[in-house]
Parts: sequence; C-alpha cells; structure tokens
Amino acid sequence: MKTPNWPRRHFLATLACSAVSPAADVPYVHPRKVLLWECTRKEIRELFEEGRLKAAILPTGSTEQHNEHLAMIQDTASATLVAQQAALRLYPQVIVATPVAVGISPYWMDRKGTLTLRKETFLAVVYDICESLATHGIRCVLILNGHGGNEAALKESVPEFRRKLGIRLEAHSYWEAYSPEMARQYLATARIPGHAAEFETSFALAAFPERVRWEGVDYEKVKGKLGIKDPKSAAEDELFAREARLATAAKGQALIGIAVDWVVARLRAMMAA
Ligand SMILES: [Zn+2]
Repeated sequence: MKTPNWPRRHFLATLACSAVSPAADVPYVHPRKVLLWECTRKEIRELFEEGRLKAAILPTGSTEQHNEHLAMIQDTASATLVAQQAALRLYPQVIVATPVAVGISPYWMDRKGTLTLRKETFLAVVYDICESLATHGIRCVLILNGHGGNEAALKESVPEFRRKLGIRLEAHSYWEAYSPEMARQYLATARIPGHAAEFETSFALAAFPERVRWEGVDYEKVKGKLGIKDPKSAAEDELFAREARLATAAKGQALIGIAVDWVVARLRAMMAA
C-alpha cells in the first residue's frame, strides 16, 4: 500500500481554504475535479447542464532547463498548481484546461533538455484551446502563464484573440500577484520570478518537493563544461545556482498562497464583468 503524503495533502487543503475564504465555507473538493483532462464527459456535461461552469483557466508554461537541481517542467507545473488551487476555491464555477507544457524558450537551447516552440506555433496552440473552450460555451478564459518567455507574446495577442472569439479573455503571469514589497518581505534576493533561483526553488519545495533534487549537484565541478555561449548568461546561471540554495518550503508556501488569492480575485472580477 502506498503511504499517503500527509504534509503535502495538508498543504493543499490549507491552500484550498486560505485566508480569503475561511475553511468552513469551502467544502472538500477532490483536486482532480477541477482539471478538465481528468474529468469524464459525463462530469463536464453535467457541469454545463447545471449552468455552473462559468470560466476556464489555461495554464501556459515551458519544458526547459532549470539549472542543475530543478525539473524541466517547473513553469508548467507551477502555473497549473496555482490554477488548480484557484479553481478549487471557486468550484464548481471554474475548470482548468490542459496546460500548454512547451513554451517559447529559444534562448535556453544551448542547455540540454530544453524544448521550444516558435512564437507562432505557441500562439496558435493557445488560440485553438481558447476557441475550443468558447465552442463549448465558456465565455470567460484566464490564460495563466508560468514562463517569462511567453509573456510578451501572450500580452500582445490577447486583444486580437478576444476580438476574434468574442469572450472575456485575459493573460497574466502568476507572479503579477507580487508587489516589490512582497518580494523583499519573503525572499532574501527579492527576485521574482528569476530563473530556477530562490523563488522558483521555494515554490517547488512547497508544492512538489520531488522536483527539487540537490543530490550530487556540484556547480563548481560542472560549470566549465556547461557550454553556455553568452558570458552574461553563464554568469547569471552561476548566480541563480547560488541563490537557489536560499530556497525554503515556507517561503514557497507563503508566495503560492498570495498567487492563488490574486488569481481568485481576477477570476471573480472577470466572471462579474
Ligand atoms: Zn522557470
């Protein structure tokens, strides 16, 4: 029998019932219930028939190198986790669409493992998913981004997407939730989002610690053979590797809670518009 992961379950339950809505107001909802790709046709159809489904969140991320210690899926997994927690808080009004797990990352291609899409490919996938959701009758879509390289492309395309689809549509990176004061309050480096440094590593330690693996990581030993062409980028890679050591689960937990509250508020405003 698999041992239940109590600390994580407790953490997710805490998030699902965080400060904005007291625990008593939020009945337990199974975390999979708000993930479109985990639902059956019957479950989704019934949500529509009952008129309860009002909005969708589309997480966008990347599959890209995150230094020596952090899994490639970080940006996708973090945006999806924030989306899921927000949808749980607003259940059954909000569903999370299948994440776009590869983003625009050409500048990391000199580091092994990174996958990248051309900007037009990425935007075409995002648009087609939004159009699919609109076809099923969802009139409100929040694109929740977790990868810096997607940000400009999404922001510049949303007005056109909105016009073509005739729905309420916004695109935000989840770190828009954080003011510079919050960054200073919670992080020694005050750097959000950074890349695989204190912030993202703290997020992962809180949400999915199995994706942080320090065993055998020795930056000094490998830095000469990483093959990073741009000296500025190489220096940054080394700096972020050092800053990542400042990460803690407690920092991540506090910052995730803030992002979830922010997304819940954005969705409430969008649904009320
Ligand atoms: Zn990242």
